[in-house]
Amino acid sequence: MSEKPLPEVKCPKCQKRGPWLAGKFGPFCSQRCRLLDLGQWLEEENKITEPLRPEHFTDYEELPPGSYLDKPEKE
Ligand SMILES: [Zn+2]
Repeated sequence: MSEKPLPEVKCPKCQKRGPWLAGKFGPFCSQRCRLLDLGQWLEEENKITEPLRPEHFTDYEELPPGSYLDKPEKE
């Protein structure tokens, strides 16, 4: 009985290839990469200074359901 070969994936952070999906940090190769990526994501989030409020969605209320999903947003 032989072990099933694990599919190799690219670490989204450092692009290193390996069976990362099987690891506890998958799809990242290591905890370091996972934390770095998470940190970057949090940084992006923090650039949004104004929290979303219900009035931000009023533009969509006039559209039929789902229509704004198909078209790019107009400025
Ligand atoms: Zn990595």
